[in-house]
Amino acid sequence: MAMPLRQSVRIGTYLLRQKLARNDKFPLLVELEPLFACNLKCAGCGKIQHPASVLKQRMPVEQAIAAIEESGAPMVSIAGGEPLMHPQIDEIVRQLIARKKFVFLCTNAMLVAKKIDKLDIKPSPYFSWVVHIDGLRERHDEAVSKQGVFDEAVKAIADLKRRGFKVSTNTTFFNTDTPQTIIDVLNFLNDDLGVDEMQISPAYAYEKAPDQDHFLGVNETRELFRKAFDGGNRKRWRLNHSPLFLDFLEGKRDFSCTAWGIPSYSLLGWQRPCYLMADGYAKTYSELIETTDWDAYGRGKDPRCANCMAHCGYEPSAVIATTSSLRESIRAVRGS
Ligand code: SF4
Ligand code: SF4
Repeated sequence: MAMPLRQSVRIGTYLLRQKLARNDKFPLLVELEPLFACNLKCAGCGKIQHPASVLKQRMPVEQAIAAIEESGAPMVSIAGGEPLMHPQIDEIVRQLIARKKFVFLCTNAMLVAKKIDKLDIKPSPYFSWVVHIDGLRERHDEAVSKQGVFDEAVKAIADLKRRGFKVSTNTTFFNTDTPQTIIDVLNFLNDDLGVDEMQISPAYAYEKAPDQDHFLGVNETRELFRKAFDGGNRKRWRLNHSPLFLDFLEGKRDFSCTAWGIPSYSLLGWQRPCYLMADGYAKTYSELIETTDWDAYGRGKDPRCANCMAHCGYEPSAVIATTSSLRESIRAVRGS
């Protein structure tokens, strides 16, 4: 599906500015992780294994805003951990919106009912909730290792939509998925729940994740998405990805990794090279760009990247390829 007009214009202008300034590396979106603590313990999670001394830390608002300002990124996805466990999460969101950043607040939704009336966040064209849903009831509850989470998330999505918020979802697929389980969950989110947009991702094999047996290989991923997208599903679903990234997922196109386009900033600093792997941290985005050997990463270069088809590495590549081609730009505007 096409991006909303305001967002397309802002991102298009931003990309043009980078081109005119001959910047070959720049951030499209920052993954901001202002805490690692979470109220769930999903088996595929690579974040909650930090030591207790790190898990209890919360990033100060000024630090979060300064990092985003320094990077210059037009979009920010706030994740973690569970961002609603941060006592000043609404202040971070408000300050980013005031700077006209497009903000995506990721949540497992378990705290929405308890916190929503206390949060000072209003619907805005610059703001969207992103609720984590990995499958229909049984699959989702199994993925997050807790019963009742799916029902709570569905209730929260309906409540947030009733309050006038834009609500998207983020769904991660594992090798226990089939084309039909993908179709079932995306049909449910698209048609029954009526979420505004859906993000999809093959799970990345975090070295620290407790469950190492259910990550997808590249060929498995391509086949899975090719079959799931068949019969007009891809066109019908409101997927929040560029057409070229969806082509990439189903194996019609291939790209090099451009992880500098979706960098991650957390309590530990700017993570090298991406939010999936941690080969050290830089203090600033400029330092991250200048001191990382970007050519050492990506499929065929680093064995840890072998099965990665994550959006943080390949969506920026798809967006840059889109803006370099008139035909692809027209496709992206049409959302086909
Ligand atoms: S909800 Fe997200 S951060 Fe929390 S345990 Fe699950 S994957 Fe990790
Ligand atoms: S391929 Fe890119 S995004 Fe994926 S793990 Fe490697 S560096 Fe990170």
